[in-house]
Amino acid sequence: AIQVRDLSKTFGGGRNLFGKARHEIEAVKAVSLHVARGETLAIVGESGSGKSTLARMLVGLEEPTSGSMLIGGRDAGALRRSGPRAFGRTIQYVFQDPVASLNPRKTIREILDTPLTRLCGYEAPRRRARMQELLHAVQMPEDTLSRYPHEFSGGQAQRIAIARALATEAEIIVLDEPVSALDVSIQAQVLLLLRDLKNRFGLSYLFISHDLAVVEAISDRVAVMYFGEVVETAPAARLFTDPEHAYTRRLVASAP
Ligand code: ATP
Ligand code: MG
Repeated sequence: AIQVRDLSKTFGGGRNLFGKARHEIEAVKAVSLHVARGETLAIVGESGSGKSTLARMLVGLEEPTSGSMLIGGRDAGALRRSGPRAFGRTIQYVFQDPVASLNPRKTIREILDTPLTRLCGYEAPRRRARMQELLHAVQMPEDTLSRYPHEFSGGQAQRIAIARALATEAEIIVLDEPVSALDVSIQAQVLLLLRDLKNRFGLSYLFISHDLAVVEAISDRVAVMYFGEVVETAPAARLFTDPEHAYTRRLVASAP
């Protein structure tokens, strides 16, 4: 589903308005990875290791400095240039803060309506039917539609954000710390929901988290990022019992 080769991102560099050299940060350094269809690849790594930068490049929010990204077998840049429809119906993302990621001035009906109209091009009756299906899929009641994002708890809002991603019918979903802002008991519910949706719809996830317990619960394989580089990729079962890289060993040893 996703194939990334030698992907790099450097921030800064050049000179500022006063001619002073700007500090350069190599946030992502020659990262190669793949996510197979129906697979969950977790990305772990400490704060600042480049996880979100990698995710943002995949979903088109950040331009890579170099390297290639194939999404659904097509070059990500070409896919994006071919129009928001093709791109938005291939890859979607869900971020950490669910309330902030939903437009506070729109009802949930309007929020779900946008992808169903703009990306899927569905007529009103089909949109209404899809909204019911989506709410059902993320286990939210029907009266959700007439309410506003601030009326929901974090866990409920994250379900709505997941429904919005699903509305596009994209098979690939990038989740950047999707449960980190939630209470532990709610985390487990949202993780179960994500796993269920993945199995039901054959989704592929790139799942970013700094929490190894969460990663162990959801991922098939794990890629470890350290200072912008992927230093180790392994099946989840192997990574936790037999980490190879010195940093991974430290990470696993320090987990509670
Ligand atoms: P966290 O776990 O805290 O979310 P992360 O692994 O997601 O961290 P990134 O957000 O990808 O890390 O940041 C990687 C590096 O790139 C950091 O040093 C960060 O300061 C830098 N960086 C990220 N975005 C920008 C930007 N827009 N401009 C300049 N530097 C940036
Ligand atoms: Mg991040």
